[in-house]
Amino acid sequence: MPKRFSDEDIQKIIDTHSQGTHSQGAVDPEGPYLTDVLIAGSGPVGCAYARTILDKQPGARVLMIEIGSQDGPVIGAHHKNSIKYQKDIDSFVHVVQGALQPLSISQEETHLSTLGGDAWRLRPNQSLVMHSRNPKQQPEVNLRASAATRTVGGMATHWTCCCPIPHEDERRNNPIPWEELEKLLNRASQLLNIDKGAFDAKDFIRHQVVKSTLLKALGEERGITALPLAVKRRPENQNYVTWSGSDTILGDAVTSEGFTLWAEHRVTKVVPRGPNSPEIAGAMLRNLRTNDDVFTVVVCCGAVGTPQVLYNSRINSEALGRYLCEQSLAFCQIVLKQELVDGIETNPDFAAKVKAHRDRYPYDPLPIPFHDPEPQIMIPYSTEHPYHVQIHRDAFSYGEVGSKADSRTVVDLRYFGKQQISKDNRVSFGDEHARGWQPGISDIYGMPQPTFYVTRSEEDHILDHKMMADMTAVANTMGAFLPGSLPQFMEPGLALHITGTTRIGKDKNDSVADEFSFSVVHGYQNLWVGGNGCIPDSTACNPTLTSVAIAIKGAEAVVDYLKKSA
Ligand SMILES: Cc1cc2nc3c(=O)[nH]c(=O)nc-3n(C[C@H](O)[C@H](O)[C@H](O)COP(=O)(O)OP(=O)(O)OC[C@H]3O[C@@H](n4cnc5c(N)ncnc54)[C@H](O)[C@@H]3O)c2cc1C
Repeated sequence: MPKRFSDEDIQKIIDTHSQGTHSQGAVDPEGPYLTDVLIAGSGPVGCAYARTILDKQPGARVLMIEIGSQDGPVIGAHHKNSIKYQKDIDSFVHVVQGALQPLSISQEETHLSTLGGDAWRLRPNQSLVMHSRNPKQQPEVNLRASAATRTVGGMATHWTCCCPIPHEDERRNNPIPWEELEKLLNRASQLLNIDKGAFDAKDFIRHQVVKSTLLKALGEERGITALPLAVKRRPENQNYVTWSGSDTILGDAVTSEGFTLWAEHRVTKVVPRGPNSPEIAGAMLRNLRTNDDVFTVVVCCGAVGTPQVLYNSRINSEALGRYLCEQSLAFCQIVLKQELVDGIETNPDFAAKVKAHRDRYPYDPLPIPFHDPEPQIMIPYSTEHPYHVQIHRDAFSYGEVGSKADSRTVVDLRYFGKQQISKDNRVSFGDEHARGWQPGISDIYGMPQPTFYVTRSEEDHILDHKMMADMTAVANTMGAFLPGSLPQFMEPGLALHITGTTRIGKDKNDSVADEFSFSVVHGYQNLWVGGNGCIPDSTACNPTLTSVAIAIKGAEAVVDYLKKSA
């Protein structure tokens, strides 16, 4: 066992590491907190680490640190599990909007051109710098809609729960051999409680109408299927479902004696045992810190938050924040064709439900029960059609139907496109023109401000065009565009599926974490990273399943490390 630091040593580490950084470096009056594993971030990936470590080593002490607050009684639960949102999916749009804190706002967006009178105003050469307003951000290379969700449970408190298996094109750079990755993906599916059948019953009217219409129009070859969702229909009331959140992944581990969660605590940086030491001695938290009895640190703070913590710890390797891929997102909504709605009345599979609804609500103009589950269809990625397609009804930060139409007749089409991998596509936390570490401006939580440098290539544009053409053609087979939701590309970053920023790989020059111990940061022995940033590929499909799979493997390596060090 490594020896504990003296108070003097701790003070020295704090002094060295606080100089010129964004950290507070305060000494916690309670003294150091001792743990075997410190996990930064309570999203699905942090929880996959906690669960796997505690399953494999029940006596381990796991301290989870989360910058956001706990917003409900169940640690990390999906907010959409409230009956309120299941009755009215549109009202969840505002929850998602409120959950997304923008990461980088360019100066152009902060200009108040109509401000008149004698109000306070910026002088020439001044710019706003508070709350992610970022004078360094050029608008044309920004991921304007990219955002963080800071709450216990991370983004899995509001996500759509779609968990497709990545196509082989989407895992070419992944150093984990396919047979092993496949097993890990299966284990991840179990942790996430994935159930394709929850929305696929024969008498779920909207789902079956959309599915059969698509099959008729596109044939079998596109692989049209139910969306693989992390959800379970509730046995006590089939009208409602339980969406998987970080709580689902955490499972029983939450009650384990070794598990502790501190919400509203910031992991400022990880602290090596000494200069150039490959061993992490602890982590500095805001207003408190742990010392050398931390054996391992796992940083799972999201695809931007994770490289941010590493950068603030001066672990600024060649690949950190680079090879960033974000998906393009094409979106539209349609109102189902008259003939499709009329066909519901005569379909024998729906007869019982339609009659019961008609008897009870004779004034409803639609033959669709109010509780009829939403359609949830996927057209999977293929080499010929290299994009991931969700044809469904759900709440995001946009696409609210409101009073414009009856939500039961509306179908959302979301097409996710890949981005060519480029070293130059990156998120940076310091002064681009300075060598090495430089203090910059701070984000809303006092960490180094992220700035994006992301462009789409010629090839990306061509693919995006093909994707848009496909979306409009498919939409036309089902109905007419809903006014206000015509086919459009959404703001860059809105997919919220950034990958690559802490990618795993063989080579230190083009990856941040290694392929052998799975997700150990190159050059360190007890510092792990987790999350979508670890995915070394450009993907079109949703990334969480893959990130949870990689995390399971990483967590097993943590357990091996703990055993070896015991
Ligand atoms: C509207 C929406 C729909 C989505 N739909 C899907 C989908 O269908 N399928 C899919 O695969 N993915 C989807 N996603 C994305 C999915 O939610 C993320 O891929 C997933 O949550 C990533 O998990 P994570 O644990 O790596 O990161 P996060 O969930 O982002 O969690 C990271 C946590 O770290 C905390 N943190 C950050 N910095 C610090 C710090 N310095 N100290 C302490 N804590 C810190 C944050 O507060 C956060 O709670 C969606 C997201 C949104 C918002």
